[in-house]
Amino acid sequence: MQSDTTSASDAAISTIVIVGGGSAGWMAAAALAKMLEGSKTIRLVESEEIGTVGVGEATIPQMRLFNAALGLDEAEFVRATQGSFKLGIEFVNWGALGERYIHAFGNVGQDLGMVPFHHYWLKMRRLGRADALADYTLSNVAARAGRFAPLVRALGLPDMPLAYAYHFDAGLYARYLRGYSEKLGVRRSEGKVARVELRPADGHVQALLMENGERIEGDLFIDCTGFRGLLIEQALQTGYEDWSHWLPCDRALAVPTENVGPPPPYTRSTAGRAGWQWRIPLQHRTGNGHVYCSRFISDDEASAELLAQVEGRPLAEPRPLRFVTGKRKKLWNKNVVAMGLASGFLEPLESTSIYLVQSAISRLIQFFPSRGFNAVDIAEHNRLADEEFERVRDFIILHYHQTTRTDSPFWQHCRTMEVPAELRAKIALFRSAGRLLRGPQDIFNEVSWLQVMVGQGLQPQGYHPMADLLNADEGAYFLGNIKAGIARQVAGLPSHGEYLQRYCKAPR
Ligand SMILES: Cc1cc2nc3c(=O)[nH]c(=O)nc-3n(C[C@H](O)[C@H](O)[C@H](O)COP(=O)(O)OP(=O)(O)OC[C@H]3O[C@@H](n4cnc5c(N)ncnc54)[C@H](O)[C@@H]3O)c2cc1C
Repeated sequence: MQSDTTSASDAAISTIVIVGGGSAGWMAAAALAKMLEGSKTIRLVESEEIGTVGVGEATIPQMRLFNAALGLDEAEFVRATQGSFKLGIEFVNWGALGERYIHAFGNVGQDLGMVPFHHYWLKMRRLGRADALADYTLSNVAARAGRFAPLVRALGLPDMPLAYAYHFDAGLYARYLRGYSEKLGVRRSEGKVARVELRPADGHVQALLMENGERIEGDLFIDCTGFRGLLIEQALQTGYEDWSHWLPCDRALAVPTENVGPPPPYTRSTAGRAGWQWRIPLQHRTGNGHVYCSRFISDDEASAELLAQVEGRPLAEPRPLRFVTGKRKKLWNKNVVAMGLASGFLEPLESTSIYLVQSAISRLIQFFPSRGFNAVDIAEHNRLADEEFERVRDFIILHYHQTTRTDSPFWQHCRTMEVPAELRAKIALFRSAGRLLRGPQDIFNEVSWLQVMVGQGLQPQGYHPMADLLNADEGAYFLGNIKAGIARQVAGLPSHGEYLQRYCKAPR
């Protein structure tokens, strides 16, 4: 009931309609049901006939915050999704053919006062007294050793949490969240939306007309319909910002294979002739795929390259997917907020899409509207969302652009293309004296950029002058201690396979 002092525009949202039941739809349903504590009616519409994209299996550590906010039990979640633990991504053949590095989660070395660790490392490397950056990074050493436990213990050293994320089966994750959401009162409707009804006065979405004749009304609509963007694009014609001049890959093939050996605790990305291939180890199978640029390689060649590279027996034919990298011009338009693939697409090189859903949900809660849909709030929401997308875009472009590969026209193109101004500035700053600054909406912190820049072969010309406060012997002692401590910590960890077997073994 509206109070006398509440105008129509201040009236509270009472019904939220989520369209789409992929990872995005069910993540939104679960989180909103939990956070809004039954104060709103939440409905979710999905069509089994249309199905979901069925990929999206690697995540970043922020996912753990999402699961924790829902109160999920980690071991139960990993078992339910045939999941495994992820300490980072191994990049093979990216900076140069034959080279590899890991972008690992968590800290790199140990900062001293105001000066980040890597400046000491840069100085000591120049003196020939430092090992690879990877050796000073706990998650990196653990990943290469195939070891995992959430907490690292070693005699004489403080207990240290390991930074990690998950690999999981996206279909099972959506199913798991569906059970969770329905228990909290989310009402699911099966069927296809045939038409979207707009309110004549202001063009807001008023109702969904289902193929079975049902009419579903709502105040706030969340478009999680995947690439088609049923509400945000087909109904509201929001427009799309195309970034394929920076990220030219436009197709993917996905194929599951049998596991060979226990799952390694990291994702692998291997750069090919005109794109790259992923390997994501789960408990019941391995997810593989090839992201490629159709201007430089045919579908048949891409499929052959993928199948030549996979390690286990394929369990299905490669499944094709097409996309255009970019984002909607507005992620929130009128009374529709787009999430997941409906909001835009950035290739899964750094496993960011599921996190972008999580972040979109947080942002929606932060700017949760009344029925008046305040334009100022929506504009700020969209500005923040755009910035976040753009920083991920830049981070992905860095991998393609900062390479010495010249062995194919695709890599020639990527190496010599113009990149966005913000990225150009970031590269120049690092090249000059190893400085890295994190923007407010940047998902990735300084050490993520550091590992990828160094891994891709970007060499700073200098380092922070304050690193000279340690002389060469002190610097060598400092680095040596960190490396030895990490080696001891990792030696005490169980193997990833043992940890899964003992605590999170999924049913066969
Ligand atoms: C090749 C590839 C690899 C990827 N790898 C990763 C990764 O490793 N990590 C990561 O974080 N992300 C990854 N992603 C992204 C990730 O898959 C998606 O972000 C995530 O799965 C969310 O998808 P979605 O829910 O937005 O869309 P979808 O899964 O496509 O779901 C769309 C939903 O909308 C419904 N729908 C559509 N139209 C209608 C209609 N008319 N009526 C009723 N219902 C309708 C469908 O039934 C479905 O339920 C990858 C994406 C691709 C393409």
